[in-house]
Parts: sequence; structure tokens; C-alpha cells
Amino acid sequence: MTTPRWEARADLLVVGTGVAGLTAALRARELGLRVLVVTKAAGEDGNTRWAQGGVAVVLPGEHDEGDTVDAHVRDTLVAGAGLCDEAAVEAIIAGGPAAVARLRERGAVFDAAPTGGLARTREGGHSAFRVVHAGGDATGAEVERALLAAASDGRVPVLEQHVAVDAVRTPLGQVCGLLVLDGNGVPGVLSAPAVLLASGGLGQLYQATSNPEVATGDGLALALRAGALAADVEFVQFHPTVLYTGRGARGRCPLVTEAVRGEGAVLVDATGARVMRGVHPLEDLAPRDVVAAAITRHMAGAPGGVDDHVFLDATGISDFARRFPTVHAACLAAGVDPAGEPIPVAPAAHFACGGVVSAVDGRTGVTGLYAAGEVARTGLHGANRLASNSLLEGLVVGTRAAEAVAADLALGVLAKPSASAAVELPTAPVADRDSLQRVMSRYAAIGRDAEGLAVVGSVLDLSTVDRKLDGRQLVEDAALTVAARALIAAAAEREESRGCHVRTDFTERDDARWQRSQVVRLNPSGQPVLADPVVARGVA
Ligand SMILES: Cc1cc2nc3c(=O)[nH]c(=O)nc-3n(C[C@H](O)[C@H](O)[C@H](O)COP(=O)(O)OP(=O)(O)OC[C@H]3O[C@@H](n4cnc5c(N)ncnc54)[C@H](O)[C@@H]3O)c2cc1C
Repeated sequence: MTTPRWEARADLLVVGTGVAGLTAALRARELGLRVLVVTKAAGEDGNTRWAQGGVAVVLPGEHDEGDTVDAHVRDTLVAGAGLCDEAAVEAIIAGGPAAVARLRERGAVFDAAPTGGLARTREGGHSAFRVVHAGGDATGAEVERALLAAASDGRVPVLEQHVAVDAVRTPLGQVCGLLVLDGNGVPGVLSAPAVLLASGGLGQLYQATSNPEVATGDGLALALRAGALAADVEFVQFHPTVLYTGRGARGRCPLVTEAVRGEGAVLVDATGARVMRGVHPLEDLAPRDVVAAAITRHMAGAPGGVDDHVFLDATGISDFARRFPTVHAACLAAGVDPAGEPIPVAPAAHFACGGVVSAVDGRTGVTGLYAAGEVARTGLHGANRLASNSLLEGLVVGTRAAEAVAADLALGVLAKPSASAAVELPTAPVADRDSLQRVMSRYAAIGRDAEGLAVVGSVLDLSTVDRKLDGRQLVEDAALTVAARALIAAAAEREESRGCHVRTDFTERDDARWQRSQVVRLNPSGQPVLADPVVARGVA
């Protein structure tokens, strides 16, 4: 047992300073709650600040002719390949206009159209120009800036460099706080009747990803250890176009936003042949899973064996540097001038479509535990996220989660945190990160089969040891280990191809067997296992 060396109390603890966490914290503060936000890095670190394309939303009076919220819902359901929860999709998309209006009131500035109103672009899978953006291709940076500024104006305390390790729970299993390590690895307890996980995604499961270093699936692991369920974890979206910077790229790779294709760029191979011609009616603007899988197939079939990148020809976009300043700068840094030559690109891990099973108001199955943003699985994304729906989800569900906490507090259904006696730093299986990323990239990315997924399991078995989680790196490595195991369990079971889950040994979609989500829980020895189909049926 460890006696916590420091303590703090609040009504609501929020893990994460991305779009979902800060939106929730601001709303909670407006509702009069004492809120405390923790993040394991600096305030601006997270996926949010890297978002480029924008926020998908059909704003009243500012949309393409004939575009509607219903059309946005339909596009989301099509992209989700039969696994979205339709009610969740409708609720979240319908909440978009109000959420974007609130974000603008909080100070976020979106790009204006020359004709008045907001500029709108189009991305893969969208049937209309409905993606609003900021700073050209720096939407996430503006959203993060505005929310952090609003949090500091609104006196929302943010504890930086504090990693959430585990939930503190009552003997009845209700969550009543967090065990946290400060920047020096000193354990402390934060007590609160409600904890909101807004801890983002898990792109670091793979060697090459668009996600920053903090995206290690910590919230997913913490929620599973607290008794929550996860679903759709086998669906990791690979972005079709990250900048290719050479064989063996590692870690966060610069993204080339889909909006570049929305504005006319096309994918070609080394011979100049169009990659997407004949693959899908929307060609280069097909949904992401389709484009990423087509590029992967194209690379594998390249003359002379496997190629490791294709090209995005954006030379026809006249004002590229002004419209896409972030991408332009990344290209120049890599020695590529997008105005004069095609940009080398390849797919990389990008977005976790699944996560902690939660309702559209963030409630999970565990009393006192809420989830919002990329860590949550609300049913919005199904088997494949529609581009630019995730900032939107963070805004809408973040707000609702704060409102759900306020309602639950008023109803008195949450645990009353008591003075913490002693808490124990958990011990968990930890695999070697390099080995894990290598086998996940080789066998559990786009194109999986039973044999390869079994290899991942064996490598994890060999490289895993039980460790006490007494440092940030160990917390992250333990989370990656749980996430990898959950993913391969679900991916091995799903003997079909659907959305982002592409099996080379089961190439067809099989609605009769598989038009359902798979639910994962931890067994008593801490291993992720697939939950009973009866439990899974309870998850729409
Ligand atoms: C390059 C890129 C481009 C994208 N473009 C778009 C786009 O155009 N439109 C769109 O809608 N979406 C886009 N996305 C996806 C979108 O940015 C994310 O899904 C969204 O920002 C996630 O927000 P979040 O609040 O859930 O988490 P994040 O913004 O990732 O924040 C997670 C937070 O949790 C903290 N954290 C994690 N673990 C712990 C822990 N154990 N203890 C304490 N703190 C912890 C992190 O430090 C961070 O503060 C993009 C993503 C990337 C990477």
C-alpha cells in the first residue's frame, strides 16, 4: 500500500485537455461545479491541436443547397459501414450547430468565405461542402487555443504533467477519484464523485501514426480496469495520406489533410496512374477506409514488388500555400514543393473508432465514470469515422457529459468520496513498446489475417512482464499492452472485412454474422476478453 503524498478534491475530475475535456470542464464550471482538469503533458498536447481539416456541421442558413442535418447523418451511417448506433448519430450530429456556436462564443475564429458566412470544404465520404475550418488547415490549433484561453479566463484549474494511473473506487465499485502521479512520479489522490475520461486515442499502437506521443490509450485501459466495457476496438482508422518521409518512419508523421483532395488533388502512383479510378464512385473522395485500403493494395501490387508510398498530385491547386499553410510547411521541411511536384504519401494510424462504451451524454456502465471524445465509443463512428466528425463529437458529448454529471450529482446517485486512506499503485502486464509497435504495424494494420494476429499475441506473450505502474512510461506501456490485446482479440474473432477492419483471409463483408459490435472487458486476471454476446447485445 502507498499512502498518497498529496490530495485534492473536486466535484468533477477531467482527464485530458483536448476538445472533449476542456469543453466539458468549461460547461461544468458554468453549471457551478468545482472542476479540476489533469493532463499528463502540457495543456496543448493531444490530438486536438493537430486536427487540420475542420469540423463537419450543417449550420442553419450556411450550407450547400439541399444539404441537411439528415444528409450529414446519412453520410455518417454509410461511412460507419453498418455498425453505427443510429440514435447516437442523430443526437450528436443534431447537436453540432449549437456546439459550434458555443465554441465560437468562447473565442474560436473560423475562416470566413469571401461571400460572407463561414468558408466550407468537403472531405471524403461527405456529400456536400460542410466542413468548417480555421487557419486554412489549422483547425485543431485554433480550437485548442480558444478552449485553453477560455479555461484560463474561466478559472478552470489545469494540473499539467500529472498522469492518471487508475480510478479510485468504493467497495461497491463506484468511481470516486483518481490515483495520479505528478511530474516527479510522486503518487497522489484526487477525490471526486465523478471522473470524466477525455484522454484521446491510441495511434501510438503503431510505428507510424498521425497522433502525437500522448496517444497511448491510457483512458481505455483505466476504464477497463475500473470495470467498464469497450467496443469496436478492432476499428482503427488509417489516414490515407500522411507525408511519406522515407522508409521506416516512426512516431508522429505530418498529415496531409483530406481537404487537399476535397479541393481537387488526386492520388497517383509512380507512373502517374490514378490510384482511385474505378475503385469507388467518389474516387479520391471515397470514405477513408476505402482510400487507405486501395492505396495499400496498390502499393502491394506495384511493379517490382511492394512499394511503400504513392503520390498526391496537388499541383492544380493554385493557392496551396495560403489554403494549406500547415501542410505546405511540412512538405517544404521534407524537401517537397507541392506547387511543382506530387507529394509522397502513405497511410498511417489515425483514429480509434471504438473505445469505452458510453452514451451520448458520456455515461458509462460504471457509476461515477464518464467518457467523451476519442476515448469513448458512443456509436457515432461504427466501423469507420466520417472525416471531421470527431471534433464535433468532442464538443457535443463533452458538453452533455458535464450536464450529466451535474444531473447525477443533483440526484445524489454518485458516491461520496471519503478521506483516502491508502491506495495501491496497480501492477499490470507491460509489453516492450518497440516490439509491440512493430508487430501491430506488420500484422494488425490494414490487411490482417488469423495467422498474423496470432503472431502479435505470441510476441506480446513473450515480451510482457508484470510491472508496478510507478511512472508515466509504464502507465503508457501498460495501456498500449491492454489496447493491443483487446484489438487483436476482437480483430481475430471478426472473420469478415468491414470499414477499417480489413481481413485478407475474409475479404467480404458478412452482415448475416457480423453486423454487430463486439464488446471487450477485462477478465479477473486483467486480460481483455470478448464479452458474452448477451452483454454485447446491450450495446447498440
Ligand atoms: C493529425 C490529425 C488531424 C486530425 N484532423 C481532424 C479534423 O480535421 N477534424 C476532426 O474532427 N478530427 C480530426 N482529427 C481527430 C481529432 O483531432 C481527435 O479525435 C480529437 O481532437 C480528440 O480529442 P480528445 O479531446 O478526445 O483528445 P485529445 O485532444 O487527444 O486530448 C487527450 C488529452 O488527454 C491527456 N491524457 C491522455 N492520457 C492521460 C493520462 N493517463 N493522464 C492524464 N492525461 C492524459 C493528453 O495529454 C491530452 O491532454 C485529427 C487527428 C489528428 C491526429
